[in-house]
This record gives sequence, C-alpha cells and structure tokens, in this order.
Amino acid sequence: MEALVYQGLDKRALEERPVPEIKDPGDAIVRIVKTTICGTDLHILKGDVSTCAPGRILGHEGVGIIEKTGPGVTTFHQGDHVLISCISACGKCEYCRRGMYSHCTTGGWILGNQIDGTQAEYVRIPHADTSLYPVPEGADEEALVMLSDILPTGFECGVLNGKIEPGSTVAIVGADPIGLAALLTAQFYSPAEIIMIDLDDNRLQVAKRFGATATVSAAGGMSAELVMKMTGGRGVDTAIEAVGVAATFITCEDIVAPGGTIANIGVHGVKVDLHLERLWAQNITITTRLVDTVTTPMLLKTVQSRKIDPKQLITHRFKLDRILDAYDTFGRAASTQALKVIIEA
Ligand SMILES: [Zn+2]
Ligand SMILES: [Zn+2]
Repeated sequence: MEALVYQGLDKRALEERPVPEIKDPGDAIVRIVKTTICGTDLHILKGDVSTCAPGRILGHEGVGIIEKTGPGVTTFHQGDHVLISCISACGKCEYCRRGMYSHCTTGGWILGNQIDGTQAEYVRIPHADTSLYPVPEGADEEALVMLSDILPTGFECGVLNGKIEPGSTVAIVGADPIGLAALLTAQFYSPAEIIMIDLDDNRLQVAKRFGATATVSAAGGMSAELVMKMTGGRGVDTAIEAVGVAATFITCEDIVAPGGTIANIGVHGVKVDLHLERLWAQNITITTRLVDTVTTPMLLKTVQSRKIDPKQLITHRFKLDRILDAYDTFGRAASTQALKVIIEA
C-alpha cells in the first residue's frame, strides 16, 4: 500500500509499505477513505516530537471502513464505516476510567507517533472498540474527519477548560484550524464577545465568517493593548492560547481579566515566562490538557444536527498519491490560504 512516511528532520516520502496485520485481539484494520494533515504532523517534521521515530507512517485523523477485526473486538464488524479518534484508549486503565483517555497507559496519542498512522491506504487501530466511533447513516465523511482531532481539541482544551459562559468575553490567540475549531464550539455557550487574534489577515477574515465578533491583527505587536482597549481596560474572561509559542501565551497573560482563565491548547516546544509578579493577586486559572476525545460522541450529534458545520474548515482536496503536494500546500498556509486539506485514499 502507499503511505506517507516521516524520514527524519524535514524529510517525508510516499513509500510502498505492507498492509498492516492484526497484532492484538483488540485491533481492527481500517481501510482509510479520507484523512488529513495536522499542524502536529508539521511539528513532527520539525523534530519537535521526540517520541516519533523516523520510518513512522504519519497521520492521526480520518474516516474509513473496517477491513478486519481481531477476535476481541465486539462492537465493530467488517464493512462498518468508522471515525478514527486521534487518541487510542483501552477503556480499562486507571486514566481511562477517569475519562482521561489521553493518558491511557497502553494508548493515548500513539497513532502516527509511536505506531503507524492514517496517512496510508490502511491503518491498524489498537483498542478498536473504545477508539473508533460508528459513522451515522448519511453523515458527511469529510465533515467527520474534523472530529478526529481538531474539534474535540478546540472544544475540550479551549472551550471547556476555558469555562466559557453565556455573556462572557473570550479571546482566541491563533486563528489556525485549532483556534477556528475553538471559535466554532465556543458558540455553544453564547459568549457576548469572541475576539480573534492572528498575524494573518486572511485567517482573521475567515474567523469573522465563523462568528468572531471582533478581530485583532498581531502584526504590529500591539494585540494585547488593542484587546485591553476593546474591553474597557478589563481584559477577557477566557484567553485561549492556540499557537504554542511563548509570545502568544504571554499575550494571554496580558489580557486575562481578574477571575479569568487562560486555557492552553498549543504544543509548546520551549519554556514560557509566567508573570506571577503581576498575576499572583488576579484570581486567575491556567489550564493545560491533551485532548481526551471524551466529547466526540456529543460533537458528532452537533454536526449531525447542523448546530456546527466543520466542513467550512476544508479548503483543499488531494488524492493520496499527491500527498506530498498536500503537505506543501498545508505547510505554506499563509500563501495558499489553506486551513484543513482532505486526503482521499
Ligand atoms: Zn492533530
Ligand atoms: Zn486506558
């Protein structure tokens, strides 16, 4: 089969690989129908993810059809259409029993990281019963690809951890697909204001279309000052960090209102200063989280009932044999205006 393989720093290639086999009784082999590229895949290529070794097939998102199941799989059968979660969960270990699937002792984020991933014709999914979701009859498969990772990530790490409430004021720093997923799902809670901050004017325009009440360009380096001005000097109740660099986290520290929450989503590769000399008396909360995908069934219902339309995030489509072009397009998002790219296997 064809597969996109990480070959070491800044190197990727489309390789011919054997179709994966069942290794454990709980495994399923899924034939990929549609997958996508995540910002995290670019982090891997930059060498930011030490757990991902060269030779790994990348990808942790997708929908597909069950090809084969191990003897321990009871929920799914050959021919079932399934949504693949970016998080594999045994459902039995201490962390899984607490709903913290991201820290499953034999799972977590392993797909396209510690085991071969979804950017291929077939993928082996461990703990299939508790890591796959049935695709509802008539569902739009492209929209559902957004449920493998970015929608639950934006919602769980940004919106839920950020404790967004009706009437509250929210700022989202970073209008990349994850920030936009937080923007879409934040609206479940009817905040009064959602201010989107980014360097890229095209993405700020997109954010307006997706429901941002205001946008702030970070290009001049004055975004915190502008947000403080827009909020009458008060700041925001929820500041969501959706980039993963020091400057954007510090923007959140600068704009969080007394009693507010900084909800981090970004993957941070270097340390960030925490300004406790200013924040110690501000009654703020800082949260971090790796997505657990516990909200995936709920998000599936909101997509099915058209409360949200994640398909808006898709800007480009490629066949699997042109995935190198897809990486190029996704990697140059500022000039290609790419958000999510769909790869058809
Ligand atoms: Zn991802
Ligand atoms: Zn577990």
